[in-house]
Amino acid sequence: MQKLTTRQRTVAAPISFSGYGVHSGQPVTLTIKPAAADSGISISRELGDGRVTLPVPVHFSRVTRTTLCTTIDLGDSVSAATVEHVMSALSGMGVDNALITLDGSECPILDGSARPFAEAILQVGLEIQPAQRKFLKVIRAVTVRNNDAFAALEPYNGRALDLEIDFDSKVIGRQRMIFDWTPRRYFEDVSRARTFGFVRDAKILRQAGYALGSSLDNSITVDNDRILNPNGLRYEDEFVRHKLLDAIGDLALGGLPIWGRFRSYKGGHALNAHVLSGLFSSEANYEIVSAENLPLEFDAFEDQPAGLAVNHYLRSVR
Ligand SMILES: [Zn+2]
Repeated sequence: MQKLTTRQRTVAAPISFSGYGVHSGQPVTLTIKPAAADSGISISRELGDGRVTLPVPVHFSRVTRTTLCTTIDLGDSVSAATVEHVMSALSGMGVDNALITLDGSECPILDGSARPFAEAILQVGLEIQPAQRKFLKVIRAVTVRNNDAFAALEPYNGRALDLEIDFDSKVIGRQRMIFDWTPRRYFEDVSRARTFGFVRDAKILRQAGYALGSSLDNSITVDNDRILNPNGLRYEDEFVRHKLLDAIGDLALGGLPIWGRFRSYKGGHALNAHVLSGLFSSEANYEIVSAENLPLEFDAFEDQPAGLAVNHYLRSVR
């Protein structure tokens, strides 16, 4: 069994999600399709006139903006916005290869978390591919700063994230989470955390044409020291967990899973993108290592076949 965890995976069958873009407010369908070994995660768009753009890797070198969400350039003035939650689910659930297709300009926000993606991936199951997994092993620490905020990638014999946030709101305040990645922990402890926003920002964002699809159904909404969602929070520290979910999605844009430790204080999409480009700025910072040569933690969850066992598991964690 242990050996299986060193092999690449793709989704066993296509899975589709229909919803609205959180910024555009427009309806959109996103499909995750199986892809060949060593192809990584790529994305293409159906343009509505029968044209489909060529798939491009969802890679940090194609990021055009990181304000509020992460947007990828698909060429010919076509882009795909808000890729971070679906990328987080793919990376968090251990999917190495997949093709994402979109029939609109922005990925659907669904419930504001990565759980619908993660749950569908778990339900359809993963196909184990012949090729060995590869990791981006951090050899030399890279730190990027913006005032007192920072993001760092450091050598570490595992896959860990240590993330802290500090907001001037009594319901958030200072929260820290240390996370050692396995797909099971991602599914249970991270994937359900929803995005969040402040009432004081909402009006300005909407006037600027953002957050048009944002609602209490897909965002935790904070009004100074109060949470407006009638059912409250999914985790007591849901805010830092969502930031961790975002960081996992942003780091997936490195093209390979990272073997090392990510640390961040008051970070976000922009710092996450900068620390990745910092890592790639010198070949002395990293090396590409086959999974056979790493002490990958065994996670039985990864080797669950789709079907009964998974459905039973899903019922037990709901
Ligand atoms: Zn997010």
